Amino acid sequence: MSIKLSLVVPCYNEEGNVENFLNEAKSVIGCYTDSYEIVFVNDGSSDSTGKNLKKLREDNKDVRIKIITFSRNFGKEAAMYAGLANSAGEYVSVIDADLQQNPSFVVKMAEILDSDADCDMVAAFQAERKEGKAISFLKKCFYKLISKASHIDFVTDASDFRTMRRCVVDTIVSLPEYHRFSKGIFSWVGYNTVSIPYEVRERVSGETKWGFKKLLGYAFDGIVAYSDSLLKLPLYCGALMGLISVILLIFAAVVDIFTSYIAPFAFYMFGIMLLIGSFICISVGVLGVYIGKIHAQVKQRPIYIVKEILTYEND
Ligand code: UDP
Ligand code: MG
Repeated sequence: MSIKLSLVVPCYNEEGNVENFLNEAKSVIGCYTDSYEIVFVNDGSSDSTGKNLKKLREDNKDVRIKIITFSRNFGKEAAMYAGLANSAGEYVSVIDADLQQNPSFVVKMAEILDSDADCDMVAAFQAERKEGKAISFLKKCFYKLISKASHIDFVTDASDFRTMRRCVVDTIVSLPEYHRFSKGIFSWVGYNTVSIPYEVRERVSGETKWGFKKLLGYAFDGIVAYSDSLLKLPLYCGALMGLISVILLIFAAVVDIFTSYIAPFAFYMFGIMLLIGSFICISVGVLGVYIGKIHAQVKQRPIYIVKEILTYEND
C-alpha cells in the first residue's frame, strides 16, 4: 500500500518526549491524511527511549510505527540517513523528537507540495531562536563563510526540519558518503526548494545534545566536507609570499645598483627566506589541490542529478 507521508524522527535520550511527540503528531497529521507512517530512529539512547518507543508501538496499533534501533550512538546525521533510507512515503519529513519543531508545520509543508507541482522540497528555517547573541553571530558568519567557500547557497539558520518528495529522498539516500553534513547535502542535490520560517519552541523535556564544542566541530566538519578552500590555502599564501619576496628583492637590488647606499643585508636575507617559504607553501598547496580532487572523487557523488527527461514520442 502506498504511503502519503513519512515522518523521520531521530531520537537520542528522548524518553520524556516520544509519547508527547506521537500524540501531537497523530492528532495533527491524522487531520491531513490517514496514510502516514512514523519512523523513529533510536540513536543508541542510554535512557528509556527504546523501551518507551516499543510500548508506544504496542499501544498505538492504529498508527504505522517503525522503530530502527542503533547499536550505539552514531549521531543525528546517521539517524536521519537511516530514517530516510527506511521511509516509504511519497513525501518524507525530517523532524526532531523534542517538539521544538511543531508537527503542524509538517502539514503546512505537505500542503505546499500538494499545491505546487514544481516544488520538490519545503525547508523550514528558524525565524527566531532563543540563544545567545554570540552564538547567533557565529552561526551567521558560518553560513556566510560556507556559502562562499563551497559555492553552494546555504540558507542562514536552515534546519534539517523539512519535507521532501520521494525523488529528493531517493537522491539523498543514494549519496554514500560517510561523513555526512545534511545541511550541505540538502543544498547540493538541488531541486526546487521553498523556505518557510518557523519558530522554535521550548524543549519539553531533556536537554540539547549540541553544546558549543560540538557545534564548532560540526561547523568545521561542514566546511571540510563542502569546500577544498582549506587545502588550497597554502597555495594562496605561497603566491602572496612569493610576490612580496620578489618586490623586496627588486627593491634591494635597485637600491644596491642605483644609489650609493648599500642595500641592507637583511632585505636580501628576508626576501630569499620568503621566496623559499613561498616555494614550500606552493608545493603544499598544489598537493592540496590534488587531495581536494581525490576528496571529491571518493565521495562518489553523481556527476549530475536528473530530475526529469522529456524525450520524443516513438512512432
Ligand atoms: N539526536 C540524535 N542523535 C544525536 C543527537 C541528537 O538522534 O546524537 C536527535 C535528538 O534526539 C533530537 C534531534 O536530534 O530529536 C535534535 O537534537 P537536539 O534537540 O539536541 O538539537 P537542538 O534542537 O538543540 O539543535
Ligand atoms: Mg531540539
